[in-house]
Amino acid sequence: MKKIVKILGATGSIGKNSIDVMKNFTNRLELYAFSFGYNVREAEEILKRFSSPYIASLKKEDVLYLKKKYSFIKEVFWGDEGIKELAQIDTDITVMGISGAEAIIPTMKAFDSSKRIALANKESIVMAGPIINRLKREKGVEIIPVDSEHSAIFQSLVGERREDIKKIILTASGGPFRNLSKEKLKYVRPEDALRHPVWHMGKKVTIDSSTLANKGLEIIEAVYLFEVSLSMVDVVIHPQSIVHSLVEFNDHSIKAQLGVPDMRLPIQYALFYPERTDAVVRPLSLFNRTLEFYPPDPDRFPALSLAKEALMFGGTMTTVYNRANEEAVRLFLDKKISFIDIPKLIEKEMEMHKNEIIVAPTLSEILEVDRKVKRNIMNQI
Ligand code: MN
Repeated sequence: MKKIVKILGATGSIGKNSIDVMKNFTNRLELYAFSFGYNVREAEEILKRFSSPYIASLKKEDVLYLKKKYSFIKEVFWGDEGIKELAQIDTDITVMGISGAEAIIPTMKAFDSSKRIALANKESIVMAGPIINRLKREKGVEIIPVDSEHSAIFQSLVGERREDIKKIILTASGGPFRNLSKEKLKYVRPEDALRHPVWHMGKKVTIDSSTLANKGLEIIEAVYLFEVSLSMVDVVIHPQSIVHSLVEFNDHSIKAQLGVPDMRLPIQYALFYPERTDAVVRPLSLFNRTLEFYPPDPDRFPALSLAKEALMFGGTMTTVYNRANEEAVRLFLDKKISFIDIPKLIEKEMEMHKNEIIVAPTLSEILEVDRKVKRNIMNQI
């Protein structure tokens, strides 16, 4: 029997890679519904291939145009509301590929309509980890992480007992400025940061990986997803991005997952787990290859320590970290602030929130804090 799939964010970086994986398994997977932002041309290519009966986009005219042209489309949805409606269509698997904090509500909705969520959106876990974990238990939904590091950890934990875990070790490429001095970091431009040496991803996550805020978010993601304490999570810089992450056990044995740096691999795993289907990516050759590992430098990349601090405060503080970072990245891309201002802005917002932390926030309280931080930053600059 075919597995029924929906993809939220089908024309983004994760979405494109998911479509590419699914093209190899059209006999096993059916793309029943998908959402996209504004890339109507690419959405049309997906429709030609998969004849999906349900689609949603941010622009009404786009989906109405597509519905008129393709008679197999049963229903279309539009706007933020439309994306939420599409998230509620029943499927075996939901691929959550929308990036940023805006994905939080569609992610929550997917718990009512899916047996499995292949989760690529880290912001929703960072903001609402405890709520997502509760939903997962209450609704009996499987979350299979698509973030390459968390997929590696998930894979290393298969067959293991959680009480045997000693440490989760996240690898980080270190980004393009890994060897740049503190002085030189001041003059980094957006175009320099967008040139990532290994991974080709969306703009936001590329900047995040150059500030190590991405790894900061991934520490928080790991703590919530695998329900371990912060002291059990370590970060190691591994420029080659071949070891995607590791788990150390109490007997000091370490398991890791290795592979070519290609997002299609964790996506394929999340779609077929526990099965290992035929390869979509090329094999990893181990010959003539050097793998390096270094400790991260918190002095040059303070976004990493700030994430740990946010997690220690807990509650709404991780939402503040996430939103302040997201806004800071936007301002940096618009050339309104410098590269080293990104962590400064996060720190400032966290400082202001210290006396207002809500320890076990509801979703609406999280969204309120999220909006407040956004407003604060917009009023300052
Ligand atoms: Mn990652």
